[in-house]
Amino acid sequence: MTATRLQNIPESATIKMSNLASELKSQGYDVISFSLGEPDFDTPEHICDAAKASLDRGETHYTPSPGIPELREAIAEKLNQDNNIETTKNNIIVTPGAKQAIFEVILSVLNKGDEAVLFDPAWVSYDPAIMLTGAKTVWAATKRDNGFSPVDVNDYITPKTRLIVVNSPCNPTGSVYDKSTLKEIADIAIDKNIMVLSDEIYEKITYDREHISIGSMDGMQELTITVNGFSKAYAMTGWRLGYVNAPDDIYKPMMKLHSHSVSQATSFVQYAGIAALQGDQSCVTDMVREFRVRRDVLVDGLDKLGIKCARPDGAFYAFADVSKYGTGEEVAGLLLNRAYVAATPGGAFGDAGRDFLRISYATSQERIREALERMEKVLELV
Ligand code: PMP
Ligand code: GLU
Repeated sequence: MTATRLQNIPESATIKMSNLASELKSQGYDVISFSLGEPDFDTPEHICDAAKASLDRGETHYTPSPGIPELREAIAEKLNQDNNIETTKNNIIVTPGAKQAIFEVILSVLNKGDEAVLFDPAWVSYDPAIMLTGAKTVWAATKRDNGFSPVDVNDYITPKTRLIVVNSPCNPTGSVYDKSTLKEIADIAIDKNIMVLSDEIYEKITYDREHISIGSMDGMQELTITVNGFSKAYAMTGWRLGYVNAPDDIYKPMMKLHSHSVSQATSFVQYAGIAALQGDQSCVTDMVREFRVRRDVLVDGLDKLGIKCARPDGAFYAFADVSKYGTGEEVAGLLLNRAYVAATPGGAFGDAGRDFLRISYATSQERIREALERMEKVLELV
């Protein structure tokens, strides 16, 4: 009775693990959750105030489907200034979360039989979106000892390749691609006329390494669809607010999908988005400063446990090689059931992640230290 197109698609592993952790919590267990990629900070006050003020003004009606013009203008200005991406509000769609934007892009670009390149490991929701279109995911290798950066990208390109997904800073590895890696991808895209979906949701969360938008590179303006959102940089996960900047020919089909499905992002949330982009950015730098300290506490602690983990350059994930103790799946099960520490098995992000555990360090230093102690006790018995 159910649609075949969803039969082979797994449930979101990040959300599944977080649900398991919540279930244990509701049974009274003190679970430390490293599973979900969600900042634990409150949304900055000036952003909440902007939403409240818009509610008080009665901004509770339908808005234009691509979003209110003031927010689209603010986004275009941000992309021009911060990312060197030349655009105007006419190429921006405001979406309920970046995830919706990603689905709209993939459904608008790919046909059945096409191929889309994902760098292994990649965030859990790209592959299911590709599968929904009837296209095929081609998993391209990354170089583990180079922070999981793509290598020999050309080897994965065929006449059927229509899309390459770039996610830097990367979920789950924390890798930030350097200019030469992005140039390699851009050169291929230009040469073979392939679209690039650049998911830049962790753009603001980098440590010492500069984030570069592939859409700013020469010749890439018409070939790049840039997705971003407010969830991570401004601790706004529950608000559901994201956006996409797309060239004209992709923008049109995306708008059809957008208007027929979600209609628009929530009205008063869009006003909060303007406050986030145009308000004081010190809230972002404060959060990033704290993430950096947590990253170091976690990576140093893992090192003491004999778990190899490269110090990530961005996002708030550590991708730890737990092969000393088992596969990522086995160790995640062990830690959840015996130490009440929830983390996501790396295999959920692609075969290259099989021996890894993704640890989201968007939780307090104190809880990270406690989790490391619990892990030590459980792992020394293995
Ligand atoms: N892209 C990546 C790489 C992510 O980790 C997330 C986290 N959910 C998203 C997109 C979607 O974010 P949101 O829908 O909350 O904007
Ligand atoms: N992106 C976050 C994660 O990877 C949130 C959950 C999700 O949307 O997958 O954990």
